[in-house]
Amino acid sequence: MTTTATPYADPAALSAVEDARAALVADLGSDAGDVGDHLGHLVEGDGVVTHLFACTRKGYVGWRWSVTVAHVAGGPVTVDELVLIPGDEAIVAPAWVPYRERIKPGDLSPGDLLPVGDDDPRLVPTYSFGDDPLDADAKAQVRQVAQELGLGRVRTLSPEGLDLAAERWYDGDGGPTAPIAQAAPHHCHSCGFLVRINGHLAPYFGVCANGDANDDGRVVSMDHGCGAHSEVRLSKKQEPQPLPPPVVDTLTPDEFETL
Ligand code: SF4
Repeated sequence: MTTTATPYADPAALSAVEDARAALVADLGSDAGDVGDHLGHLVEGDGVVTHLFACTRKGYVGWRWSVTVAHVAGGPVTVDELVLIPGDEAIVAPAWVPYRERIKPGDLSPGDLLPVGDDDPRLVPTYSFGDDPLDADAKAQVRQVAQELGLGRVRTLSPEGLDLAAERWYDGDGGPTAPIAQAAPHHCHSCGFLVRINGHLAPYFGVCANGDANDDGRVVSMDHGCGAHSEVRLSKKQEPQPLPPPVVDTLTPDEFETL
């Protein structure tokens, strides 16, 4: 069983503030003026203490000089490490995110390529949908034969890929929670502009084909909707008000002079 003991706070190491500052100043040379007040210490281990000093260098707000000293019984205090580290207030670069994870919908420009990995869980080999009994070599052979014979797509959406797409579409602008759908008088399932799709998602989604609608050409859920629904009718008070009867002015310039 592992136990975590509190490290021994060696008094000599704790009180070696000026030794730590002197070592730091000596190391910085002409930049020694960048060392500010002593901010505190951290006990790193038995007899090992890190002293923290403010950094007053321009552009380094929140950074701290860190000087780690050590002491063993009977020996002198030694300086182990000098380093500039960011504090809680420091401006630091954001955490590294791999390129593949940084790409968002809409980032691709014409000519950009975004290959899908062989093990992408959203896709399965078309000839082994469901189970996946093929090893890597067999998959490569199946792919080559399928391409040579023109048998259609090598891979199709897996159940996971279908679920992810359905969730994304349902929660997005084409789903029932979009503001335009919330205010719609009717849903897409009864709209004449809805194009039905095939496959597993057919009961839940279609494609809007109304050129006057915001969602024209997009996937919409059956319970989405908008004001351009094919059966929308205006109520009496929403219809344009009829114009008053025209007034025919029969007065001629001569008659005007006699008035
Ligand atoms: S016009 Fe509106 S209601 Fe009709 S399918 Fe398109 S989004 Fe749905």
